[in-house]
Amino acid sequence: MSLSVRILGASGGIGPGRRTTSILIDDDILIDAGSGVGDLQLEELRRIRHVFLTHSHLDHIAFLPMLADMVYHPDAAPIHVHGLPATLKALCDHVFNWVIWPDFTRLPRPDQPLVRLASVQPDQTIHLDHRELRVLPARHTVPAVGYCVSSHDGAAFAFSGDTTSSRRLWPALNALPNLDLLMIETGLPDEMEGMADLAKHYTPQNLREDLALLEHRPRIAITHLKPGHEQAIRQQLARSPHHTGMIFLHGDERFVLDANGARTRAS
Ligand SMILES: [Zn+2]
Ligand SMILES: [Zn+2]
Repeated sequence: MSLSVRILGASGGIGPGRRTTSILIDDDILIDAGSGVGDLQLEELRRIRHVFLTHSHLDHIAFLPMLADMVYHPDAAPIHVHGLPATLKALCDHVFNWVIWPDFTRLPRPDQPLVRLASVQPDQTIHLDHRELRVLPARHTVPAVGYCVSSHDGAAFAFSGDTTSSRRLWPALNALPNLDLLMIETGLPDEMEGMADLAKHYTPQNLREDLALLEHRPRIAITHLKPGHEQAIRQQLARSPHHTGMIFLHGDERFVLDANGARTRAS
């Protein structure tokens, strides 16, 4: 079966036309819950059964509380929220704490909550119907992971989450049996390397070096560009030997992956 990858948000910030990180896989799996979730129709929100979080930063979780509130009903089917233990703890401590938002991990009943938390670890594989999600290692200012989603016919999509250069990420990507589309961040331009080092984001220079380690030849989709620096990042990445076919995501793309490789169509 093919895999639908719909990019709902792919910006490092906000402003007209910009949405923060969120990706809808088929119609029931969300990877991150940034402001891109806010464009989904109510019926689309109700079909989401799983949310996989890369890390606890606000631009990746901001709309999770409101997603829970929008679909809340005493008989609503649960939403399974997957993340590293530190990510889930941050959600409980700082978001679902009755102060910032009601605790949907205990509503409508503590033994049958709407939001059910499930911890993941790097290199773990989670099976969901005809899909497999593999947890990828990442390196950021807080504990972070990426995810690879593949369908049983071999189509595969990987997302780095927020990360800087990581020795573990590229061997993990190379170990995948197939990779059709790699969505990876480049948060800051080369001239902000000092800040990128502090904030643990890729710069074009660092990504160019690391892309040489990749043994697959997927399409490369760039995400999380900091507003105001998009053009500089694009120009700096254009010097990459991997530039051919590189896609700069706006947050309104849809990819349909199947055994014949990645296809894109406008949403
Ligand atoms: Zn982050
Ligand atoms: Zn981020």
